[in-house]
Order: sequence, then C-alpha cells, then structure tokens
Amino acid sequence: MPICGVLGWPVRHSRSPALHEAGYRAVGLDDWRYQLLPVPPELFDETVRGLPAAGFVGANVTIPHKEAALALADEATDAARAIGAANTLTFQHGRIHADNTDAPGLLDALPFDPASCTAVVLGAGGSARAVVWALVNAGAAEVLVWNRTSARAERLCAEIGGRTIQAPLPAADLLVNTTSVGLRGEDPFQALPLTDAINGYPCLVDLVYGSGPTALVSAAQAAGATVVDGLEILVRQGARSFAQWTGRPAPLDVLRVAARGEPAAAA
Ligand code: NAP
Repeated sequence: MPICGVLGWPVRHSRSPALHEAGYRAVGLDDWRYQLLPVPPELFDETVRGLPAAGFVGANVTIPHKEAALALADEATDAARAIGAANTLTFQHGRIHADNTDAPGLLDALPFDPASCTAVVLGAGGSARAVVWALVNAGAAEVLVWNRTSARAERLCAEIGGRTIQAPLPAADLLVNTTSVGLRGEDPFQALPLTDAINGYPCLVDLVYGSGPTALVSAAQAAGATVVDGLEILVRQGARSFAQWTGRPAPLDVLRVAARGEPAAAA
C-alpha cells in the first residue's frame, strides 16, 4: 500500500489528506493513502528518514519544515535550491529527492502568462521566495516586493531577484499577498499599504485561505478584479506533488471539491 503524507507542526488543520485521497480514488488508486504527519522540528530528520521503510513514497512539507526538508535531501531541483525550501519529498531507490511545487503551482493557477507583466508581491517570507522566483523565472517585466520588515525584502531580492518598494504601492498587472495577514481575521487594510478598493490591480492572488473568502479576496471581487484564492494555490501545488508520486495527472476538479470541503456530489 503506497502512502504519502504531509509533515508539519502543527498540521492537524491541513486539507491535503482530503485533497489527495479524493484524487487517488478518482484515478483508481484505491490502495493509496495520505496521512497527517505531525512532527516537531527536533524529530523531523529522524522521522523523514524512517518514512520509506514504513511504506511512504512521498511527503508534502509545510511550516516550519520546508528549509529542513531541503537540507536533508540527497538531491533537489534547481527551483528548490534557488528558493531555499522544499515542499515535496519523493522517496525512491533509497534516496530522498526534494522539489518545490509552490512555484510552478502559482504559475499554473494564474489566469494569464506572467511573461512581461508587472507584479507587486506583499511579504518576504518563505512563500514569497517561491512566488518571486516563479515570476522572475517566468519572465515578468517587474517584480516589486513590499514587506513590513524591509530588510527581509532586500535580502530576498538580492538572493532571488525582483526589486524592493516602499508604500505607497504602484499599480501593476498582478498583486500577490504572501503575508499571513488575514489568516487570523486581521484587517488587511490596516496591516498592509492598500486602500479598501484595491484599485489598480486587475488580478489578485491571495495565498491565505480559511473557511470563507478573505477580506482581500472579497474586496478584489467587489472591485471587479480576477481573483485566485489560497485554496486554488493549495490545489495547484498539491496537483504537482500528486503527479510526481503517482505518475498520473491530478484530477483538478476532484481536488478542488475536496479542498473546499464541498460534498462529492457537487463535483
Ligand atoms: P512566513 O515565512 O512566516 O512569512 C510571513 C510574512 O507575513 C512575512 O512577510 C511577514 O512580514 C508578514 N506578516 C506577518 N504578519 C504581518 C502583519 N501583521 N503585518 C504585515 N505583514 C505581516 O510565512 P509563509 O510561509 O510565507 O506563509 C505566508 C502565508 O501564506 C500563510 O498564511 C500561509 O498559510 C500561506 N500559504 C498558503 C499556501 C497555499 O497553498 N495557499 C502555501 C504557502 C503559504 P515580516 O517579515 O515583517 O514579519
């Protein structure tokens, strides 16, 4: 029985098990399983090294282990190395392979080709590194990075690309929120240098997701912008991991229904 899972601390609220197991069933991989793997940082390496012997073929990695996952891997993709973090581990032939599907997952989710576009990225944490790397490597004309702690944005741009900016934010083709603002119901219009209408951005990507639309997503929809929410980003990075492990394309619509917690009959 092939098993996959998600390593995190905490990880109990992850939607990945529902998403992947629905995908396995939809493509006829009835004996595949996907488990929550709550692991504290001090047990991360030891736990990961024991997974192949327990039947695991792969694992997703989330907060706070993405850098540790890259560090322990025997081999890694250029994307994972450049971003400095891995969210997908594959166990094969006694080796641990690391990849970062957050970056291509973002590009998959965008409703247009970002080549030659201008983008404003809010945040400079782990997910911002994947977003900036993805946009720079996709040929975006300008990737402008704002962060509450500007030194962190400067470090990110020096290592990955893009250019730091201060408020007020310029208009751009794309606005990406990679900060955790909104996760606990914070008001993005207090914490971030945005106006209520978020005018000037025809497309918004908000990595944050919860039980309903975030305040940023609602404001962008009200302003008539095209919106990609955090659940679509989750689905797209998960779909890439799914394909790597199973060798089959992920059934995106099934994953979307599972991620949103909607009844299967709605698929
Ligand atoms: P992280 O490395 O901890 O970075 C957090 C970022 O948020 C930093 O830029 C931080 O700024 C900023 N921030 C936090 N509180 C703030 C506030 N009150 N005002 C302004 N800025 C604030 O986290 P991460 O891994 O990048 O994740 C960020 C968010 O993306 C989380 O909500 C996570 O759940 C979400 N995410 C979603 C997906 C998905 O699949 N949808 C994937 C990855 C991440 P400072 O540097 O100034 O502290």
